[in-house]
Amino acid sequence: MRYVSTRGLAPVRDFAGVLLAGLAEDGGLYVPETWPSLAPAEWRALRGLPYADLAARVMAPFTEGSLAPEALQGICREAYAGFGHPAVAPLVQLEHDLFLCELFHGPTLAFKDMAMQVLGRLFDAVLTAQDRRVTIVGATSGDTGSAAIEACRDRARVDIVILHPEGRTSEVQRRQMTTVLSPNVGNLAVAGTFDDCQDLVKAMFADVPFRAEMGLSAVNSINWARIAAQIPYYVASALALGAPDREVAFAVPTGNFGNVLAAWAARRMGLPVRALIVGSNRNDILARFLAANDMSVRAVAPSLSPSMDIQVSSNFERLLFELLGRDGALTDATMKGFRAGGRMEVPAAAWREATALFSGFSLDDDGTLAEIRRLHDACGYLADPHSAVGIAAARAWLGRAREGVPVVAMATAHPAKFPDAIAAAVGLRPALPARLADLYERPERYRSVPRDLAAVEQLVRATARRNAG
Ligand SMILES: *Cc1c(COP(=O)(O)O)cnc(C)c1O
Repeated sequence: MRYVSTRGLAPVRDFAGVLLAGLAEDGGLYVPETWPSLAPAEWRALRGLPYADLAARVMAPFTEGSLAPEALQGICREAYAGFGHPAVAPLVQLEHDLFLCELFHGPTLAFKDMAMQVLGRLFDAVLTAQDRRVTIVGATSGDTGSAAIEACRDRARVDIVILHPEGRTSEVQRRQMTTVLSPNVGNLAVAGTFDDCQDLVKAMFADVPFRAEMGLSAVNSINWARIAAQIPYYVASALALGAPDREVAFAVPTGNFGNVLAAWAARRMGLPVRALIVGSNRNDILARFLAANDMSVRAVAPSLSPSMDIQVSSNFERLLFELLGRDGALTDATMKGFRAGGRMEVPAAAWREATALFSGFSLDDDGTLAEIRRLHDACGYLADPHSAVGIAAARAWLGRAREGVPVVAMATAHPAKFPDAIAAAVGLRPALPARLADLYERPERYRSVPRDLAAVEQLVRATARRNAG
C-alpha cells in the first residue's frame, strides 16, 4: 500500500514510511493512494472472529508491503491481550435500536489505547527491520501522555519522554504516567503550564542536531497508523448487528476527528454505513459546519469532556481532501486560508456531499449531566461525559425516525476517569477497575525540571541512554 499527502507535494511513502514520518513534509496528512474495498462475502467471512484477529484482517491491506500478515496478527493479539474485557470492544444494548461500543477497556481506560497499543508494537517491528531506534517526545495536559507511555513501555526500539505541567494534572492522570517504571520511559514535571510543555517539545524538534541525535518522533493523532487501528471496531460492531446485510449508523464523540474518520474509512471500504453522527460539546465548530457550512474558529472553552475541547480538528483535512476530489493543491489552499483567516471556505457541492452522510450535534455541560442522569435512571448504565455526548447525539438522530437502522454510539472513556462529573450527575463515585485499584499505592518516578530547553534535552538524552546501553 502506498500513501500520498493531502497537500500533494510530499513524497509517496509505504506504510512503514508514514508510520515513522507522522506529518508529511508539505504540511499535509498521509492517506492511502487507493482505498481497499471488501465485497459482501469478504465482510461475512470476518463474522465471529476474535477481535484481535479481525483487527489484523481489517488492517492488513494498509500495512501490505511493510509487514507480513502473520506479524500483524501477532502484534494485534499481543496489543489486545492486556485489555480488561475478553471481548476487547464489547457492545452494550441501551435501547431497542441504540447500542454502545465500549472502547475503554485498555490500560489507561480511554479509547486512545485501542490504537496506541497497536502503534507502539508497529514502531518496534518497523524499527527492528530497519535496525533503528527512535525517541518519542510529547507534551500532555493529562490523558494522551498516559496512553502513549502505556503504548511504548518496554518496547525494544523506542524510548519515550513525556512532559507534563507540574501540579496541573489530576492525581489519577499523573499516576497513570509516573507509576510506569520501565527503563525506556521518562516523565518530566515541568515548572510551568501545558503550553510551556508544548513549546519545549516544539523547541526540541526545531533543534536539528538534537532531533537527529535522538531520532525524535511523535505519536500524535495525525499519524495514519492510528486511524487504521481504529477501523476494526466499526467493522466488528457493524458485523455483530447484521452488516453487510443490514445498514448501521455510528455516533462518535469528536475532538480531532480521528475516531469518526476511521468510521468514514470503514464505509469507504464498503461497510454499509447509513449515517455518521458527530457529537460535540460547547466547542461546536463541527456542528456549525454541518448545520450551515460555518467552519469558523472561536475560542476554546473548557467543558466536562476535555478531550473534545478543540476548535481545529486536525484529521478533518483527510475528509476535506476526499470531498475536494483528492485535489492536493485545493486542499492546501483551503487549509492555508483556514489557518490565516480562521474560517474555512468549503465549496457548496463538497459541503452537500458531507452533509448527506454526516450530521452534527452539540451538547453543553448541563445537557451532558442530564444525559448521564437519564441513562443511569433508565438502565443503570454509567457513561462518562464524552460518551454521554455521543449517546445524546445518537438519540437525537434516532428521534428523527429513521426506522430499522440501529445506531452504535462510541463509549470513549471509563466513567471512573471522570468521577467529579459522575458525582455531580448521579451522586455516586464510580470505582476504578480492579486492575487499577492500587494506583494510589504504586511507587512513582519522575523528574522535576525548570522551563529550560537545555535541562530538558539533557534529561531526554539520559532516558534514551539508559535504555540503549
Ligand atoms: C481523544 C478522545 C476523544 C476525541 O477523539 P478524536 O479522535 O480526537 O475525535 C473523545 N473522547 C475521549 C475520551 C478521548 O480521549
